[in-house]
Amino acid sequence: MSADLVKRAAAVLPGGVNSNVRLPTAQTFFARGHGPRLWDVDGKEYVDYLLGQGPAFLGHAHPEVNAAVAEAVTRGMVYGAQHALEVEAVEKLLAAVGWADMARLGVSGTEAVQGALRLARAATGRRKVIGFAGQYHGWLDTVLMAHGPDGSGPGSLGQPPQYLADWVVTPFNDAEALRARFEAHPGQIAAVILEPMMCNSGAIAPRPGFLERLRELCTEHGAVLIFDEVVTGFRLAFGGAAQRFGVTPDLAIYGKAVAGGWPVAAIAGRRELLELFGDGRVNHSGTFNASVMAAAAVSATMDVLGRGTPYVTVEEHGTALMTGLRAIGERHGVPLHVQGLPAAFHVSFRAGDRPDTTVVDHASLQSLDLARYTRFGKVLAEHGIWVAGRGIWYVSAAHGEQELADALARFERALRNEAG
Ligand code: PMP
Repeated sequence: MSADLVKRAAAVLPGGVNSNVRLPTAQTFFARGHGPRLWDVDGKEYVDYLLGQGPAFLGHAHPEVNAAVAEAVTRGMVYGAQHALEVEAVEKLLAAVGWADMARLGVSGTEAVQGALRLARAATGRRKVIGFAGQYHGWLDTVLMAHGPDGSGPGSLGQPPQYLADWVVTPFNDAEALRARFEAHPGQIAAVILEPMMCNSGAIAPRPGFLERLRELCTEHGAVLIFDEVVTGFRLAFGGAAQRFGVTPDLAIYGKAVAGGWPVAAIAGRRELLELFGDGRVNHSGTFNASVMAAAAVSATMDVLGRGTPYVTVEEHGTALMTGLRAIGERHGVPLHVQGLPAAFHVSFRAGDRPDTTVVDHASLQSLDLARYTRFGKVLAEHGIWVAGRGIWYVSAAHGEQELADALARFERALRNEAG
Protein backbone atom coordinates (compact mmCIF):
# COMPACT_ATOMS: atom_id res chain seq x y z
CA MET A 1 0.00 0.00 0.00
CA SER A 2 2.74 2.47 0.93
CA ALA A 3 4.72 1.69 -2.24
CA ASP A 4 1.71 2.68 -4.32
CA LEU A 5 1.23 5.93 -2.38
CA VAL A 6 4.93 6.80 -2.65
CA LYS A 7 4.65 6.39 -6.43
CA ARG A 8 1.46 8.45 -6.71
CA ALA A 9 2.85 11.17 -4.44
CA ALA A 10 6.08 11.40 -6.41
CA ALA A 11 4.05 11.98 -9.57
CA VAL A 12 2.07 14.96 -8.24
CA LEU A 13 3.97 16.41 -5.26
CA PRO A 14 7.52 17.70 -5.78
CA GLY A 15 9.73 15.29 -3.87
CA GLY A 16 6.55 13.46 -2.84
CA VAL A 17 5.97 15.90 0.04
CA ASN A 18 4.27 19.20 0.90
CA SER A 19 7.10 20.60 3.04
CA ASN A 20 10.81 20.29 2.30
CA VAL A 21 11.43 19.39 5.94
CA ARG A 22 9.74 16.06 5.11
CA LEU A 23 11.93 15.16 2.12
CA PRO A 24 13.97 12.65 4.18
CA THR A 25 10.79 10.78 5.12
CA ALA A 26 9.04 10.90 1.74
CA GLN A 27 8.67 7.11 1.83
CA THR A 28 6.53 7.04 4.97
CA PHE A 29 2.76 7.49 4.92
CA PHE A 30 0.78 7.48 8.13
CA ALA A 31 -2.81 6.37 8.37
CA ARG A 32 -3.50 7.71 11.86
CA GLY A 33 -2.11 9.08 15.07
CA HIS A 34 -3.59 8.60 18.49
CA GLY A 35 -2.09 9.98 21.69
CA PRO A 36 1.67 9.23 21.66
CA ARG A 37 1.56 6.69 18.81
CA LEU A 38 1.37 6.61 15.02
CA TRP A 39 0.29 3.87 12.62
CA ASP A 40 1.52 3.82 9.04
CA VAL A 41 -0.57 2.75 6.07
CA ASP A 42 0.89 -0.74 6.26
CA GLY A 43 -0.31 -1.11 9.86
CA LYS A 44 3.09 -0.69 11.53
CA GLU A 45 2.94 1.11 14.88
CA TYR A 46 5.44 3.68 16.20
CA VAL A 47 6.02 5.52 19.46
CA ASP A 48 6.10 9.12 18.25
CA TYR A 49 8.80 11.50 19.51
CA LEU A 50 8.53 13.85 16.53
CA LEU A 51 4.95 14.92 17.23
CA GLY A 52 4.51 16.53 13.83
CA GLN A 53 7.70 18.58 14.54
CA GLY A 54 6.25 19.66 17.88
CA PRO A 55 2.56 20.59 17.61
CA ALA A 56 1.12 17.38 19.09
CA PHE A 57 2.26 18.33 22.60
CA LEU A 58 -0.99 16.90 23.98
CA GLY A 59 -0.67 13.79 21.82
CA HIS A 60 -2.48 13.19 18.54
CA ALA A 61 -6.22 13.78 18.25
CA HIS A 62 -6.69 15.10 21.78
CA PRO A 63 -10.40 14.45 22.52
CA GLU A 64 -11.11 17.73 24.31
CA VAL A 65 -9.45 19.90 21.67
CA ASN A 66 -11.03 17.94 18.82
CA ALA A 67 -14.49 18.16 20.43
CA ALA A 68 -14.15 21.93 20.90
CA VAL A 69 -13.16 22.41 17.25
CA ALA A 70 -15.88 20.07 15.95
CA GLU A 71 -18.53 21.88 17.98
CA ALA A 72 -17.33 25.34 16.92
CA VAL A 73 -17.20 24.66 13.17
CA THR A 74 -20.87 23.82 13.06
CA ARG A 75 -21.29 27.63 13.22
CA GLY A 76 -18.99 28.33 10.25
CA MET A 77 -15.25 28.77 9.75
CA VAL A 78 -14.22 32.26 8.63
CA TYR A 79 -16.39 35.37 8.75
CA GLY A 80 -14.16 38.25 7.61
CA ALA A 81 -15.12 39.81 10.94
CA GLN A 82 -14.72 39.11 14.62
CA HIS A 83 -16.22 36.38 16.79
CA ALA A 84 -16.29 35.83 20.51
CA LEU A 85 -14.04 32.77 20.51
CA GLU A 86 -11.00 34.69 19.25
CA VAL A 87 -11.23 37.13 22.16
CA GLU A 88 -11.58 34.24 24.58
CA ALA A 89 -8.63 32.42 23.00
CA VAL A 90 -6.31 35.42 23.22
CA GLU A 91 -7.39 36.24 26.78
CA LYS A 92 -6.48 32.70 27.82
CA LEU A 93 -3.22 32.78 25.85
CA LEU A 94 -2.16 36.03 27.53
CA ALA A 95 -3.05 34.66 30.95
CA ALA A 96 -0.81 31.66 30.22
CA VAL A 97 2.10 33.72 28.91
CA GLY A 98 1.86 36.06 31.87
CA TRP A 99 4.02 38.99 30.77
CA ALA A 100 2.38 40.02 27.45
CA ASP A 101 -0.40 42.63 27.12
CA MET A 102 -1.78 41.84 23.66
CA ALA A 103 -1.53 39.25 20.91
CA ARG A 104 -2.51 38.63 17.30
CA LEU A 105 -3.28 35.18 15.95
CA GLY A 106 -2.03 33.90 12.60
CA VAL A 107 -1.49 30.59 10.87
CA SER A 108 2.23 29.77 10.68
CA GLY A 109 5.29 30.49 12.78
CA THR A 110 7.05 31.85 9.71
CA GLU A 111 4.53 34.63 9.16
CA ALA A 112 4.38 35.42 12.87
CA VAL A 113 8.16 35.96 12.77
CA GLN A 114 7.61 38.31 9.83
CA GLY A 115 5.05 40.27 11.87
CA ALA A 116 7.30 40.56 14.91
CA LEU A 117 10.30 41.75 12.88
CA ARG A 118 8.10 44.30 11.13
CA LEU A 119 6.85 45.61 14.48
CA ALA A 120 10.39 45.89 15.82
CA ARG A 121 11.62 47.76 12.75
CA ALA A 122 8.62 50.07 12.77
CA ALA A 123 8.99 50.83 16.47
CA THR A 124 12.72 51.55 16.31
CA GLY A 125 13.06 53.01 12.82
CA ARG A 126 16.09 50.69 12.42
CA ARG A 127 16.71 47.79 10.05
CA LYS A 128 19.37 45.46 11.40
CA VAL A 129 18.49 42.29 13.27
CA ILE A 130 20.80 40.17 15.40
CA GLY A 131 20.19 36.42 15.14
CA PHE A 132 22.06 33.30 16.24
CA ALA A 133 23.96 30.76 14.15
CA GLY A 134 22.02 27.55 13.54
CA GLN A 135 18.65 28.90 14.64
CA TYR A 136 15.56 28.68 12.43
CA HIS A 137 12.84 31.30 12.07
CA GLY A 138 10.98 30.04 9.02
CA TRP A 139 11.43 29.60 5.30
CA LEU A 140 10.89 33.15 3.95
CA ASP A 141 13.60 34.98 1.98
CA THR A 142 14.10 37.45 4.83
CA VAL A 143 14.88 34.86 7.52
CA LEU A 144 15.99 31.55 6.00
CA MET A 145 19.66 30.79 6.61
CA ALA A 146 21.88 27.93 5.59
CA HIS A 147 22.17 25.38 8.38
CA GLY A 148 25.69 24.47 7.38
CA PRO A 149 28.56 24.32 9.86
CA ASP A 150 29.04 28.13 9.77
CA GLY A 151 25.30 28.63 10.15
CA SER A 152 24.66 31.64 7.94
CA GLY A 153 24.12 32.74 4.33
CA PRO A 154 21.09 32.07 2.12
CA GLY A 155 19.40 28.76 2.84
CA SER A 156 17.89 28.21 -0.58
CA LEU A 157 18.48 28.52 -4.26
CA GLY A 158 16.38 31.42 -5.54
CA GLN A 159 16.79 33.40 -2.33
CA PRO A 160 18.35 36.78 -3.13
CA PRO A 161 21.26 37.26 -0.69
CA GLN A 162 20.37 40.95 -0.20
CA TYR A 163 17.29 39.90 1.76
CA LEU A 164 19.65 38.81 4.52
CA ALA A 165 21.81 41.95 4.32
CA ASP A 166 20.34 43.34 7.54
CA TRP A 167 21.18 40.23 9.58
CA VAL A 168 24.04 40.14 12.03
CA VAL A 169 24.69 36.54 13.04
CA THR A 170 26.41 35.67 16.29
CA PRO A 171 27.01 32.48 18.32
CA PHE A 172 24.41 31.39 20.87
CA ASN A 173 25.38 31.50 24.55
CA ASP A 174 28.16 34.04 24.00
CA ALA A 175 27.20 37.30 25.71
CA GLU A 176 30.56 38.90 24.98
CA ALA A 177 30.21 38.32 21.22
CA LEU A 178 26.70 39.75 21.41
CA ARG A 179 27.93 42.87 23.17
CA ALA A 180 30.58 43.29 20.46
CA ARG A 181 27.90 43.00 17.72
CA PHE A 182 25.85 45.75 19.34
CA GLU A 183 28.95 47.93 19.55
CA ALA A 184 29.88 47.28 15.93
CA HIS A 185 26.47 48.60 14.81
CA PRO A 186 25.69 51.46 17.18
CA GLY A 187 22.10 52.68 17.05
CA GLN A 188 21.29 50.31 14.17
CA ILE A 189 19.93 47.15 15.78
CA ALA A 190 16.13 46.99 15.59
CA ALA A 191 15.79 43.60 17.24
CA VAL A 192 17.48 40.54 18.62
CA ILE A 193 15.53 37.42 17.69
CA LEU A 194 16.27 34.00 19.12
CA GLU A 195 15.05 30.59 20.09
CA PRO A 196 15.68 31.05 23.83
CA MET A 197 16.57 27.36 23.92
CA MET A 198 18.00 26.20 20.60
CA CYS A 199 15.88 23.31 19.35
CA ASN A 200 16.38 23.40 15.59
CA SER A 201 20.07 22.73 15.95
CA GLY A 202 20.74 20.50 18.94
CA ALA A 203 18.73 21.12 22.11
CA ILE A 204 20.87 23.77 23.70
CA ALA A 205 19.61 25.52 26.81
CA PRO A 206 20.86 29.01 27.58
CA ARG A 207 23.85 29.13 29.92
CA PRO A 208 23.03 30.67 33.30
CA GLY A 209 23.09 34.44 32.91
CA PHE A 210 23.09 34.48 29.10
CA LEU A 211 19.45 35.48 28.59
CA GLU A 212 19.67 37.97 31.46
CA ARG A 213 22.69 39.66 29.82
CA LEU A 214 20.91 39.57 26.44
CA ARG A 215 17.93 41.31 28.02
CA GLU A 216 20.18 44.01 29.52
CA LEU A 217 21.98 44.62 26.22
CA CYS A 218 18.69 45.00 24.32
CA THR A 219 17.40 47.49 26.86
CA GLU A 220 20.69 49.39 26.90
CA HIS A 221 20.79 49.66 23.08
CA GLY A 222 17.07 50.26 22.53
CA ALA A 223 16.59 47.01 20.57
CA VAL A 224 13.41 44.95 20.72
CA LEU A 225 13.98 41.50 22.24
CA ILE A 226 11.99 38.83 20.37
CA PHE A 227 11.76 35.31 21.72
CA ASP A 228 10.89 32.88 18.95
CA GLU A 229 8.95 30.45 21.13
CA VAL A 230 7.50 28.47 18.23
CA VAL A 231 9.08 25.33 19.72
CA THR A 232 9.52 26.31 23.37
CA GLY A 233 6.16 28.05 23.87
CA PHE A 234 3.67 26.03 25.95
CA ARG A 235 6.25 23.21 25.93
CA LEU A 236 8.99 24.17 28.38
CA ALA A 237 6.33 25.61 30.70
CA PHE A 238 2.80 27.02 30.39
CA GLY A 239 4.50 30.42 30.04
CA GLY A 240 7.16 28.97 27.69
CA ALA A 241 10.88 29.68 27.83
CA ALA A 242 10.24 33.16 29.26
CA GLN A 243 8.75 31.53 32.35
CA ARG A 244 11.16 28.60 32.48
CA PHE A 245 14.25 30.79 32.30
CA GLY A 246 12.77 33.83 34.05
CA VAL A 247 13.59 36.40 31.37
CA THR A 248 10.96 38.59 29.73
CA PRO A 249 11.16 39.59 26.06
CA ASP A 250 9.34 42.51 24.39
CA LEU A 251 7.71 40.30 21.78
CA ALA A 252 7.29 36.55 21.44
CA ILE A 253 6.14 34.25 18.69
CA TYR A 254 4.18 31.10 19.41
CA GLY A 255 3.12 28.24 17.14
CA LYS A 256 3.18 24.45 17.23
CA ALA A 257 1.92 23.50 20.74
CA VAL A 258 -0.32 26.59 21.05
CA ALA A 259 -3.33 24.86 19.50
CA GLY A 260 -2.98 21.15 20.22
CA GLY A 261 -1.91 20.40 16.64
CA TRP A 262 -4.15 22.82 14.77
CA PRO A 263 -2.38 25.33 12.48
CA VAL A 264 -2.16 28.44 14.62
CA ALA A 265 0.59 30.91 15.47
CA ALA A 266 0.60 34.05 17.58
CA ILE A 267 2.56 37.24 18.07
CA ALA A 268 2.35 38.41 21.67
CA GLY A 269 4.01 41.27 23.45
CA ARG A 270 4.02 44.67 25.00
CA ARG A 271 1.04 46.91 24.33
CA GLU A 272 2.99 49.80 22.78
CA LEU A 273 4.46 47.44 20.17
CA LEU A 274 1.33 45.44 19.33
CA GLU A 275 -0.73 48.63 19.09
CA LEU A 276 1.26 49.56 15.98
CA PHE A 277 -0.90 46.98 14.20
CA GLY A 278 -3.98 48.53 15.73
CA ASP A 279 -3.96 51.88 13.97
CA GLY A 280 -3.15 50.27 10.63
CA ARG A 281 0.29 51.81 10.12
CA VAL A 282 1.99 48.44 10.44
CA ASN A 283 0.35 45.78 8.32
CA HIS A 284 -0.50 42.35 9.66
CA SER A 285 -3.16 40.52 7.68
CA GLY A 286 -4.39 37.07 6.79
CA THR A 287 -7.62 35.55 5.52
CA PHE A 288 -7.37 32.60 7.89
CA ASN A 289 -6.11 34.45 10.99
CA ALA A 290 -8.14 33.44 14.06
CA SER A 291 -10.53 31.25 12.10
CA VAL A 292 -13.23 29.62 14.21
CA MET A 293 -11.22 26.35 14.22
CA ALA A 294 -8.05 28.13 15.27
CA ALA A 295 -9.68 30.07 18.09
CA ALA A 296 -11.54 27.02 19.37
CA ALA A 297 -8.34 24.97 19.29
CA VAL A 298 -6.31 27.60 21.17
CA SER A 299 -9.02 28.08 23.76
CA ALA A 300 -9.42 24.35 24.46
CA THR A 301 -5.64 23.80 24.45
CA MET A 302 -5.16 26.56 27.02
CA ASP A 303 -7.80 24.88 29.21
CA VAL A 304 -6.03 21.52 29.07
CA LEU A 305 -2.54 22.95 29.56
CA GLY A 306 -3.74 25.25 32.33
CA ARG A 307 -4.53 22.26 34.53
CA GLY A 308 -0.79 21.80 34.85
CA THR A 309 -0.71 18.01 34.69
CA PRO A 310 0.70 17.93 31.13
CA TYR A 311 3.89 19.56 32.39
CA VAL A 312 4.27 17.07 35.23
CA THR A 313 3.80 14.14 32.84
CA VAL A 314 6.22 15.53 30.25
CA GLU A 315 8.88 16.29 32.85
CA GLU A 316 8.65 12.79 34.35
CA HIS A 317 8.55 10.94 31.06
CA GLY A 318 11.32 13.00 29.47
CA THR A 319 13.59 12.66 32.50
CA ALA A 320 13.13 8.88 32.63
CA LEU A 321 13.61 8.59 28.88
CA MET A 322 16.84 10.61 28.84
CA THR A 323 18.18 8.59 31.78
CA GLY A 324 17.17 5.32 30.13
CA LEU A 325 18.76 6.21 26.79
CA ARG A 326 22.03 7.21 28.46
CA ALA A 327 22.05 3.93 30.40
CA ILE A 328 21.55 1.94 27.19
CA GLY A 329 24.45 3.82 25.59
CA GLU A 330 26.70 2.97 28.54
CA ARG A 331 25.61 -0.66 28.62
CA HIS A 332 26.56 -1.07 24.98
CA GLY A 333 29.71 1.03 25.13
CA VAL A 334 28.22 3.40 22.56
CA PRO A 335 29.16 7.10 22.91
CA LEU A 336 25.59 8.36 22.98
CA HIS A 337 25.19 12.09 23.56
CA VAL A 338 21.86 13.07 25.14
CA GLN A 339 21.39 16.76 25.96
CA GLY A 340 18.52 19.11 26.66
CA LEU A 341 15.42 19.31 28.80
CA PRO A 342 12.83 16.57 29.35
CA ALA A 343 10.31 18.26 27.02
CA ALA A 344 12.81 18.60 24.15
CA PHE A 345 16.17 16.92 24.02
CA HIS A 346 18.77 15.99 21.45
CA VAL A 347 20.27 12.57 20.84
CA SER A 348 23.46 12.04 18.90
CA PHE A 349 26.81 10.27 19.04
CA ARG A 350 30.07 11.74 20.25
CA ALA A 351 32.82 11.52 17.65
CA GLY A 352 35.49 8.97 18.59
CA ASP A 353 38.36 11.34 19.35
CA ARG A 354 36.22 13.79 21.35
CA PRO A 355 34.95 12.01 24.43
CA ASP A 356 33.66 15.00 26.41
CA THR A 357 31.88 17.26 23.99
CA THR A 358 29.97 20.11 25.59
CA VAL A 359 27.51 21.54 23.14
CA VAL A 360 26.80 25.21 23.76
CA ASP A 361 26.22 26.56 20.25
CA HIS A 362 25.94 25.64 16.59
CA ALA A 363 29.72 25.35 16.12
CA SER A 364 30.26 22.97 19.03
CA LEU A 365 27.29 20.90 17.87
CA GLN A 366 29.31 20.07 14.74
CA SER A 367 31.82 18.15 16.83
CA LEU A 368 29.19 15.43 17.32
CA ASP A 369 28.77 12.66 14.78
CA LEU A 370 25.48 14.04 13.47
CA ALA A 371 25.63 12.01 10.26
CA ARG A 372 25.77 8.77 12.25
CA TYR A 373 22.62 9.76 14.14
CA THR A 374 20.81 10.68 10.91
CA ARG A 375 21.51 7.15 9.65
CA PHE A 376 20.51 5.72 13.03
CA GLY A 377 17.21 7.66 12.89
CA LYS A 378 16.18 5.40 10.00
CA VAL A 379 17.05 2.31 12.08
CA LEU A 380 14.93 3.71 14.90
CA ALA A 381 11.99 4.09 12.52
CA GLU A 382 12.41 0.47 11.42
CA HIS A 383 12.21 -0.51 15.09
CA GLY A 384 9.08 1.54 15.78
CA ILE A 385 10.38 4.87 17.10
CA TRP A 386 9.44 7.92 15.04
CA VAL A 387 12.00 10.72 15.42
CA ALA A 388 13.59 13.49 13.39
CA GLY A 389 16.87 12.72 11.65
CA ARG A 390 18.39 15.88 13.10
CA GLY A 391 18.28 14.37 16.59
CA ILE A 392 15.56 16.29 18.43
CA TRP A 393 13.13 14.25 20.56
CA TYR A 394 9.86 15.90 21.59
CA VAL A 395 7.90 14.46 24.51
CA SER A 396 4.12 14.82 24.75
CA ALA A 397 1.70 14.85 27.66
CA ALA A 398 0.26 11.61 26.28
CA HIS A 399 3.46 9.57 26.67
CA GLY A 400 3.05 7.10 29.51
CA GLU A 401 4.82 4.18 31.14
CA GLN A 402 4.04 1.80 28.31
CA GLU A 403 5.60 4.18 25.79
CA LEU A 404 8.66 4.53 28.00
CA ALA A 405 9.11 0.76 28.21
CA ASP A 406 8.46 0.28 24.48
CA ALA A 407 10.73 3.16 23.47
CA LEU A 408 13.66 1.97 25.59
CA ALA A 409 13.32 -1.66 24.45
CA ARG A 410 13.05 -0.61 20.81
CA PHE A 411 15.96 1.82 21.12
CA GLU A 412 18.15 -0.91 22.57
CA ARG A 413 17.23 -3.31 19.78
CA ALA A 414 17.93 -0.60 17.20
CA LEU A 415 21.31 0.12 18.75
CA ARG A 416 22.25 -3.58 18.61
CA ASN A 417 21.16 -3.59 15.02
CA GLU A 418 23.12 -0.41 14.24
CA ALA A 419 26.25 -1.89 15.76
CA GLY A 420 25.70 -4.87 13.46
N1 PMP B 1 10.56 29.43 14.43
C1 PMP B 1 10.97 28.27 14.97
C2 PMP B 1 11.84 28.30 16.18
C3 PMP B 1 10.58 27.05 14.41
O1 PMP B 1 11.02 25.90 14.93
C4 PMP B 1 9.74 27.07 13.26
C5 PMP B 1 9.27 25.78 12.61
N2 PMP B 1 9.99 24.65 12.86
C6 PMP B 1 9.35 28.30 12.74
C7 PMP B 1 9.76 29.45 13.36
C8 PMP B 1 8.46 28.38 11.55
O2 PMP B 1 7.20 27.93 11.85
P1 PMP B 1 6.21 27.35 10.72
O3 PMP B 1 6.82 26.07 10.23
O4 PMP B 1 4.91 27.15 11.43
O5 PMP B 1 6.13 28.38 9.66
